[in-house]
Amino acid sequence: MDQSSTRLTPPEEPRAFGFFLDGAWVPAGDREVFERASPGHGVPVTRIPKCTHEDLNAAVASARQAFDDRRWSGLSGADRAAVLLKTAEGIRARAEEIAYWETLENGKPIAQARAEVGGCVGMFEYASGLARSLHGDSFNNLGDGMFGVVTREPVGVVGVITPWNFPFLILCERVPYILASGCTMVAKPSEMTSATTLILAEILHDAGLPAGVMNVVTGSGSTIGQALIEHDQIDMLSFTGSTAVGRRVVEASGKSNFKKLGLELGGKNPQIVFADADLEDAADGVAFGIGFNTGQCCVSGSRLIVERSVADAFAAMVAEKFKKIRVGDPLDEATQVGAITTDAQNATIMGYIERGQSEGAKLLYGGAQLDFGRGQYIAPTLFGDVTSDMAIAREEIFGPVLTVMPFDTVDEAIAIANDTEYGLAASVWTKNIDKALMVTRRVQAGRFWVNTTLSGGPELPIGGFKQSGWGREAGIYGVEEYTQIKSVHIEIGKRTPWVE
Ligand code: NAD
Repeated sequence: MDQSSTRLTPPEEPRAFGFFLDGAWVPAGDREVFERASPGHGVPVTRIPKCTHEDLNAAVASARQAFDDRRWSGLSGADRAAVLLKTAEGIRARAEEIAYWETLENGKPIAQARAEVGGCVGMFEYASGLARSLHGDSFNNLGDGMFGVVTREPVGVVGVITPWNFPFLILCERVPYILASGCTMVAKPSEMTSATTLILAEILHDAGLPAGVMNVVTGSGSTIGQALIEHDQIDMLSFTGSTAVGRRVVEASGKSNFKKLGLELGGKNPQIVFADADLEDAADGVAFGIGFNTGQCCVSGSRLIVERSVADAFAAMVAEKFKKIRVGDPLDEATQVGAITTDAQNATIMGYIERGQSEGAKLLYGGAQLDFGRGQYIAPTLFGDVTSDMAIAREEIFGPVLTVMPFDTVDEAIAIANDTEYGLAASVWTKNIDKALMVTRRVQAGRFWVNTTLSGGPELPIGGFKQSGWGREAGIYGVEEYTQIKSVHIEIGKRTPWVE
C-alpha cells in the first residue's frame, strides 16, 4: 500500500491471510485458497483460506470451551468493557489499514470506508457501556414469603454470518454487543470480503480478549456457512444476508438444535416525498439513499413514491443530482460511488435494467455500465412509468436503480409503501407534521427516517418487519438479543409444608 502519496494504489501482490482460531492465526497451509480481485481495479488483492469442516469444528469447539469455562462470561462487566474500549482504540489506530482493505475487496469509496470505520469505533465504545449497565429485574411485590429476581445470561456460542456489502460495519454492529453480553463466537464473513473481519479478530486479541472468545472461519456459504448454521454446538446464529439464505437458516435451526436466530435480510425500501417537502433537500437525500454504496445496502431507498403534482419535476431534480455524482476509482478520495462488488451482482443489476425497459418502464437516467478501463461500474439509474407489478418495483435489485411511482393521497402513498413482502426501512419527506407522523406510524418498517435517510449510530436498533428479518441489532436492544432470561424465585422464611 502506497500511503506516502495522497492517491492510493492497489497492492503489488495480494495479501495472504490465515484464519483465526483459539487466539492465534492459522496459516492457509495446504488448504485451497480463494483469491479475491478488487472490483474497482480487476487485480488480485487478497488470498483467503477455504476452511475445512474440521477447521469449523475446531473453531466451534474453541468457542464452546471458552464459553463453558466462563473465561469471558465470568468476568465483570467492567472487565469486559475494558477490552471493548481497548479494541476501539485498536480500530482507531489501524483505521487506515482497515479502510484500505475494505475498499479493495468491496469496491466502496475510500472516504466512505474511512467514515464507516470511524462509526465502528463508536459501536465498541457504546457497547462497552452496555457491558456495565446490562442488568435484570427484581419483583418485591410477591408477598412477604417470596422474592423474585430476573437475571439476564449470555445465550452461549454465537455464529455470525455477514454479507459483502458492509463487511466491517455490519460485523461491528454485532460483535461488540455479542461480547458485551458475555457470549463467545465464531464469525464467517462473505468469501468476497473476509480481510477486515480477520483484522478485527487480531485487534480484539491484542486488546486482551481471551483466546477462543472470537474465532473466524473463512470460506464459501454453501460449504462452511451451511455447516455453521446446522452445527448443534452453536446456541444462536446472527445471519445478515439475502432472504433466500435466511430461509435456509431457519430450516437448519429447525433441523438441528433450534438455535436462537437473529436475521437481517433484504429490503425494498420506500422514499415517500410530499409536494410540501423541501424538494431540494429531498432530491439530494433520495439520490444519496440509492447512490450510497452503489445501492448495495439492505436499507437503500430504492422506491421513490412521490406526490403526483410534483412527480415529473422532482424526478428531473433527482436525475440532475445523479448526473453530478462522482462515480469512479474507489481509491480516489473524491469518489462518491465506487464499483459493483461482485461479477454476479453486476450481472443481476444489468439484468434488472434490461427487464425494466422490456416491461415498459421509461429510462429517465443512466442504465449503462461505465467504462473506466478496469473494474465494473454502473451509472445511477432512474426509471419512470413504473407500475407495481413490474419486477423492478417489487424485487430487491441491490444496485443503484431507483423507480418512481406517483401518488395522490396520503393513504395511497402508505398503501404503495407497504405493498411489499419486505419491511426493513422507509423515509418520508414533508414539512407537514401530521403527514410525517401518519406515515411514520403506518408504514411497516424497522427503521424510519423523517426528512433524512440512512442515518444511524450505535444507540438506535437495526432490524426489519415482515420478511426483512427477526430481532434487532445495536443499542440496548441489540445486546439484550444475545441474552436469555432466567426467573429466580427465592422463598423467604419457613416453608408452608405440603406434607404435614
Ligand atoms: P447472501 O445471503 O448470499 O450471503 C450472505 C452470507 O451468507 C455470506 O457470508 C455467504 O457466504 C453466506 N451464505 C451463503 N449461503 C449460505 C448457506 N447456505 N448457509 C450459510 N451461509 C450462507 O447475501 P449477499 O449476497 O452476501 O448480500 C446481499 C444480501 O444481503 C441482500 O439481499 C441484502 O439485502 C442483504 N443484506 C441485509 C442486511 C440487513 O441488515 N438487513 C445488510 C446487508 C445485506
